[in-house]
Amino acid sequence: MNPQFKNILHSLGIYHPLQSHYRNVVFYLKRMFFRISFSSYKGHGFTCNVCQQQYFRFVDDWPSSENKNALSNSNVIAGYGKNIMCPNCLSNARERLVIAMLQHHINIENKKILHLSPEKNIYQYLITKSQVVTADLVPGFYKNIDKHIKQEDVTALSFADQSFDLVIANHVLEHITDDLKAMSEIYRVLKKGGIAILQAPYSETISATIEEPLIANPERQSELFGQKDHVRIYQLNDYISRLGQSGFIVSKISYKELSAFHHHAIQVDETFLEIKKPY
Ligand SMILES: [Zn+2]
Repeated sequence: MNPQFKNILHSLGIYHPLQSHYRNVVFYLKRMFFRISFSSYKGHGFTCNVCQQQYFRFVDDWPSSENKNALSNSNVIAGYGKNIMCPNCLSNARERLVIAMLQHHINIENKKILHLSPEKNIYQYLITKSQVVTADLVPGFYKNIDKHIKQEDVTALSFADQSFDLVIANHVLEHITDDLKAMSEIYRVLKKGGIAILQAPYSETISATIEEPLIANPERQSELFGQKDHVRIYQLNDYISRLGQSGFIVSKISYKELSAFHHHAIQVDETFLEIKKPY
């Protein structure tokens, strides 16, 4: 888009709302395309835990050419691969993993939940059972998901201490310059015994987290981190140790231990982190 035109839309405050509507249109077209082109794959195999439809294969999703080297060089678990997207509702593997945990492992009945950078399918599941506040630094981008979304900076949340039973910031911390500050803010607003869902792309084969928190160079970010707005690739144990420094108790649930959810086409080899604020 022409930068001047983009500035005008920004100054009118309609750039992000328009972007949100544009994403809706793209979503409906894409959904129509995959429903038709995957109709012959209907049947037992994978079951979507969002729309309950069954297919013996889901839609594969591979990183774009500018992102793929960073991800493959470091063997990053980042939400790409075979069977990532449901052909019927377009839910993705990372949403289905969180939804499976919310359905079977984490009690959300009548809880107070903060959902940062909300994903549509997770948000729609949450609101059937609990009281949900959504927030993002750029709320306009998410107006199509929740029109009441608040503007919040995850490194300086406006909420009082111990406001929430659960905080979800799924694939958020890899974008945040001061991730330790964000973790400590999430810790602060959680009640004692509260849970955080903070999945992020990670590698188990690199020796340390690769990061450049102040980089602000999208092309270079794609080359280094596999996405134009990421500032790091976490080394898994380092990520867990950062969460520990913030006060959380973290346990790993391996992909093998998640076998009851494999039929929901969750990301192969992804470890789920159970992150708790102690009593
Ligand atoms: Zn689905």
